[in-house]
Amino acid sequence: LTSCGREDPGTGNEGGGTGNEAASGGFEEGAAIGVALPQKTSENWVLAEQLFNDGLTEAGYEPDVQFANGGVSEQQNQINSMITNGVEVLIVGAIDGAQLGSQLQQAADAGITVIAYDRLLTNTENVDYYVAYDNFQVGELQGQALLDGMAEKGEGPYNIELFAGSPDDANAQVFFDGAMSVLKPKIDDGTLNVVSGQTEFNQAVTQGWKAENAQRRMDTLLSGNYDSEELHGVLSPNDTLARAILTSVKAAGKEIPIVTGQDSEVESVKSIIAGEQYSTINKDTRDLVEHSITMVEGLAAGEELEVNDDKSYDNGVKVVPAYLLEPQIVTKENAAEAYADDPTLSEIVK
Ligand code: BGC
Repeated sequence: LTSCGREDPGTGNEGGGTGNEAASGGFEEGAAIGVALPQKTSENWVLAEQLFNDGLTEAGYEPDVQFANGGVSEQQNQINSMITNGVEVLIVGAIDGAQLGSQLQQAADAGITVIAYDRLLTNTENVDYYVAYDNFQVGELQGQALLDGMAEKGEGPYNIELFAGSPDDANAQVFFDGAMSVLKPKIDDGTLNVVSGQTEFNQAVTQGWKAENAQRRMDTLLSGNYDSEELHGVLSPNDTLARAILTSVKAAGKEIPIVTGQDSEVESVKSIIAGEQYSTINKDTRDLVEHSITMVEGLAAGEELEVNDDKSYDNGVKVVPAYLLEPQIVTKENAAEAYADDPTLSEIVK
């Protein structure tokens, strides 16, 4: 058990003094910071837990990091306790960004700053900032990778299927829209043929980002549409679902299509190196957590935070000021370079 950052009071910027900090809306070293994470639907969340605990402690705060594996009501309860326990900042990776309205109202009433982490919080005015990788760009990169991968294997037209993430996660629609901004013109001009005809987000979703749901849908798509057709590519929104899709395709005895992904999960990076999954997205969790902690430090100092996007993330009530990081496409070709400074992945790709 790490005793928290209070043990090292000498390193903070103590110049402002308590009075000044309070006047400018900041808070003191040792303050409690709540981090509400969703279910462990992909490795990035698991990494985030450790990174938030270590990083916030090192920066001199008292982190309270919680997963809500039990679902939305568990996350609501966790946020309630964080508010009761007096956190200064709430960092929220929501299971369902639209189901935290009353908790976020209480947070606002208590003067707590709310940062939406990775996933947007919707239908509420009580979210101050959003920090994430550029989700639309993730989708664009996935759509382009799908086209590139199929073109490497042969000429079109290509038969493809489309998968999206969980509809309660606001990111899922944005990933899909980004990908469709690239793919839709190619569907319209006949380069791409979605054999099942399922081109709408609602038809493509994967409830709870669950592998078994994607696998089941892929089984059904294959048995219903691909008896005599070849399948050239599958848009998958992340690595967990990509591997489920590949499992289904292999079980059906089909040739492996081009399959996209996201998150740079260990098993998928191995699969890419082995020539099965085609691509993933590098959204280094270390950088996202580090920036989130920089935001906490800015708030502690009473500063207004830097944002780089104040128009994209309309949550239904307001446009949430966002700080977006840039995602990177990774295929077998650039994997060694992309993961050079990642202690785990660099070992796999070298
Ligand atoms: C994250 C993805 C992740 C997915 C499932 C999304 O909100 O942005 O990185 O793959 O959740 O956990």
